[in-house]
Amino acid sequence: MGAEAAAQLVVEAATIHAVHVADEDGYCRGCLLQWALLTRHPCSQDRWAVAVIDEHATDR
Ligand SMILES: [Zn+2]
Repeated sequence: MGAEAAAQLVVEAATIHAVHVADEDGYCRGCLLQWALLTRHPCSQDRWAVAVIDEHATDR
């Protein structure tokens, strides 16, 4: 994967990570908003996003 594609993927992951946050009951707000699904947080979307950010983020 090129640097540009990786950067694009990280942007996408960061967007997902920002939306898929836990509410006060421990459910994912992002899944509820996007699909009207009650999913325990961290959901699979957020786990993916965190893994991508971990793997590709270079600015730390
Ligand atoms: Zn979610």
